[in-house]
Amino acid sequence: MTVLTALDRCDRCPAAAAYRASLLVDSPPYDVPTPTLDLCGHHWRKNGPAMTEQGWVVIAGNPEVFATELEGTPS
Ligand SMILES: [Zn+2]
Repeated sequence: MTVLTALDRCDRCPAAAAYRASLLVDSPPYDVPTPTLDLCGHHWRKNGPAMTEQGWVVIAGNPEVFATELEGTPS
């Protein structure tokens, strides 16, 4: 899986992207690029369930953001 870095930002806010999601289509129009969205943890939690239902899948993530999101958990 691709690893996102701090340079990858959320497409909806200035936060670092935690997830990159791509829309999988059964019969893609091959001349059209597959849509992808980079989302921070907040926006993924907000939109992820609906997006998953529409066929979006997570194709990349940022382990550093995951670590930050777990802040408050004893390490
Ligand atoms: Zn965001």
